[in-house]
Amino acid sequence: MGSTGSIGTQALEIVRANPERLQVEVLTAQNNADLLIKQALEFEPNAVVIADKAKYQYVKDALDKHDIKVFAGADALTQVVQMDTIDIVLAAIVGFAGLKSTIAAIEAGKPVALANKETLVVAGALVTNLAKEKGVNIFPVDSEHSAIFQCLAGEFHNKIEKIILTASGGPFRGKDKKFLSTVTKENALKHPNWTMGAKITIDSATMMNKGLEIIEAGWLFSLKPEQIEVIIHPQSIVHSLVQFEDGSIKAQLGLPDMRLPIQYALFYPQRVPSTFTRFDFTSYPNLSFEKADAETFPALSLAREAMNKGGNLPCVLNAANEVAVGAFLNDEISFLDIADVVEKSMQKASFIAKPSLEDYTKSDEETRKIASVLTTNKVRA
Ligand code: NDP
Repeated sequence: MGSTGSIGTQALEIVRANPERLQVEVLTAQNNADLLIKQALEFEPNAVVIADKAKYQYVKDALDKHDIKVFAGADALTQVVQMDTIDIVLAAIVGFAGLKSTIAAIEAGKPVALANKETLVVAGALVTNLAKEKGVNIFPVDSEHSAIFQCLAGEFHNKIEKIILTASGGPFRGKDKKFLSTVTKENALKHPNWTMGAKITIDSATMMNKGLEIIEAGWLFSLKPEQIEVIIHPQSIVHSLVQFEDGSIKAQLGLPDMRLPIQYALFYPQRVPSTFTRFDFTSYPNLSFEKADAETFPALSLAREAMNKGGNLPCVLNAANEVAVGAFLNDEISFLDIADVVEKSMQKASFIAKPSLEDYTKSDEETRKIASVLTTNKVRA
């Protein structure tokens, strides 16, 4: 799901390198029809979905002579994901848009390799309970969570004292608010270590990405907020750490390359050979660690607040953030406005203590309206 994105295309590199082990059943895109067609012609899936219905005929015509089913629309995403022939679903759609297809996959008993962290941020209780009920595994793809998962191999009966999520600090590490008040989207899109989709790259610059990851980790590993620490590690070599009850700390290391966590999730519990560039300690004589600056980057505290209060507040946080990041990418609001829109939306949106899936959908819609008004007011100001 989301095969035309940064995670999706890297996942297809893994398929390309492992033709005897992996076969693509479904590919999906929002509106990048040309890349979807190109991928379909190379990987010959059973079906493709183009979420933007306006592009259906174009994709259909291009794949007309091939034995590949073509579907369109958001509902098709939730249907194809349940196909009998699918063994594992890679959830790599960005944002709230990935929630329903991930839930549909779990409902059909499919294990999920989860990149779409927003799914767990928005509806962590619902998704993890459903996975338990259906006996479905969720394998983390996010590099930090994959690192924790890898550290936990062979340790599943040992209690975690805490986990330490590493963060690169993004392009604005060490900067103050005065500096941040002038940054442009071009500055924010230049991540020092990772090449990723636009939304997560802006989330990394605001530190909201780490905030979302705190919530994601809470659900994946059944941790309380106080068991999840964040530390800045500018080199992005130590991908995260687990501290056990005896004080021992395990870390997972490697060069920043998303193909490794994607591959680990797809092949778990096996490790299969790869040609990814190997890490050389002598090239990195200094691995450094710093305290996170939650005052300059308020997104971290907002995410913690949402996690502590629970209910639909993480859903509100996520929806407001998606709207604000979209507005920033459209040059409508400033960088510092992003966290401001999120904070105000969290104050204005209705609180629901025990939301259902329908409540999450309504809350997402309500928050998007609130956040859109807030961003429009900022444009006017
Ligand atoms: P991209 O923006 O690069 O790709 C997103 C994918 O989702 C594309 O295939 C896109 O299609 C599709 N898509 C977007 N909107 C919709 C929609 N409304 N309905 C259906 N499909 C849609 O994102 P990334 O690959 O960077 O990120 C994907 C997820 O993985 C995110 O949740 C992110 O947080 C997470 N992640 C990403 C990492 C990375 O390195 N990139 C690292 C860790 C986590 P189209 O191309 O047509 O727009």
